[in-house]
Amino acid sequence: MIQVYSSPDLNDAYAVKDLLEENGMSAHIFNENVSRLPGALFRATPDAWPAVHIADESRFHEAKVLILAFEKSGRSEEAESDAEQPHWICSNCKEENADTFEICWKCGKSR
Ligand SMILES: [Zn+2]
Repeated sequence: MIQVYSSPDLNDAYAVKDLLEENGMSAHIFNENVSRLPGALFRATPDAWPAVHIADESRFHEAKVLILAFEKSGRSEEAESDAEQPHWICSNCKEENADTFEICWKCGKSR
C-alpha cells in the first residue's frame, strides 16, 4: 500500500480513486471521515487530509502520471468556466457587461 494522492477536498480524493480504478488499480481512501466533521479540514494538517493509496506499489509512477493529468484537466476546466461567465453586449457601445449588471458599466445605457 502506498500513498499517491492527498487533498483537503474529499471529492477530489474520490475522483482520483475512480480514475485509478478505471485504470485497473486497487485504490483506497484513508482519512475519509475527516471532512465529515464541520471545520475539521481547516484544522487538519496535510497528513490528515483524505489520501488515496494504491495496493500495488509497482504502479506508483503510472498512478502519478494519471493524477498529474487529472490535476491539469481540473485546472483547465476551472479556467473555462470563468471564461463562460454569462454576459451581455451593450447595444449602444458594444461593451461586454457581466450578467449581474443592469446597466452598461461603460456608458450607463440600461440593458
Ligand atoms: Zn454601453
